[in-house]
Amino acid sequence: MSESTPFVQALGLHKTYAVHSGLGEKAKKIRAVDGVNFGIRRGEVFALVGESGSGKSTVGKLLLRLEEVSSGRVLIDGTDLLSLGKNDLRAFRRRIQMIFQDPFASLNPHMRVNEMLHEALAIHGLFKSGNQRNERIAELLQLVGLAPEFSSRYPHEFSGGQRQRISIARALAVEPEFIVADEAVSALDVSNQAQIINVLMDLKTDFGLTMLFISHNMAVVQNIADTVAVMYLGKMMEIAPAKDLFRSPKHPYTTALLSAIPVPEVARERKRIILQGDMPSPLDPPSGCVFRTRCSQASEHCAQVVPALTQTSPGRWVACHLHQTTLTESL
Ligand code: ATP
Ligand code: SF4
Repeated sequence: MSESTPFVQALGLHKTYAVHSGLGEKAKKIRAVDGVNFGIRRGEVFALVGESGSGKSTVGKLLLRLEEVSSGRVLIDGTDLLSLGKNDLRAFRRRIQMIFQDPFASLNPHMRVNEMLHEALAIHGLFKSGNQRNERIAELLQLVGLAPEFSSRYPHEFSGGQRQRISIARALAVEPEFIVADEAVSALDVSNQAQIINVLMDLKTDFGLTMLFISHNMAVVQNIADTVAVMYLGKMMEIAPAKDLFRSPKHPYTTALLSAIPVPEVARERKRIILQGDMPSPLDPPSGCVFRTRCSQASEHCAQVVPALTQTSPGRWVACHLHQTTLTESL
């Protein structure tokens, strides 16, 4: 694999769910993820943002094969995840882990912290002797900023922020290379959010972790992401290096999301754009550009033609008819 090949590649991902609206009604299809392509470089934090229901969590689950794709491919370090049989997938899972939004729901309430971490190590046959495992558990707790004496406690004996640290320790136990953090700090207060983000950033720096960071909170993303991808109704609207995206968003949806950040220096430069109405139902998405029903710049053309995600400059991709000058044409 060449140096420039992304560590994680999502190629033409589609995920459709069949939903039944009532007895005797024909099932309808929700396109939760509708033809999504992107790559994540080794060691980068790739943030996936967008309103609730845009398909972010589904993308995260497809990348880890916690959900099966309807079509498309996922390559991680060159391995086609979807081609792996049950045993190979189980072995590969050591390299890919997930941190969920609600640490309380994702931690077994009947297990002490050390039992949980022991279990994670045992599943993958790591640190075989009892002593080695105990040392590893102490090391993990220290990494996430928890005192080792906490290890004999149960999840309910911890605060929300501490529980999220335990989730991170459990994900790290198996020395993964790729982590999907799905709204990992959303349930926490601002000071705990900042602390958990610091833990994640240290892990990225110290271990070169590659991360998909899913969030609806642009202010949090600004602090952590190298690259940002913006989703809306199952489609990718814009992908850009974080600095460029926050400085000069190209897609009208990104512009609206950024205008809502309550950070004085950003707010001062930008006019607040209130997104009108709700996101349309994914059961009946708009024709053409899916954002057109809320876009102040929509034209007749936008209702008829789906804008392709087009590269507009190195590393920048936009799906909007206002930005269809491709990199090749502009050179
Ligand atoms: P949130 O932040 O609220 O989780 P999201 O951007 O992560 O939102 P998803 O959870 O991926 O979005 O959901 C995308 C769409 O797919 C939504 O319309 C959701 O209702 C639908 N969906 C997700 N999972 C299922 C499922 N198991 N069955 C049916 N529909 C689903
Ligand atoms: Fe707005 Fe048209 Fe661009 Fe869609 S393609 S974001 S409707 S201008």
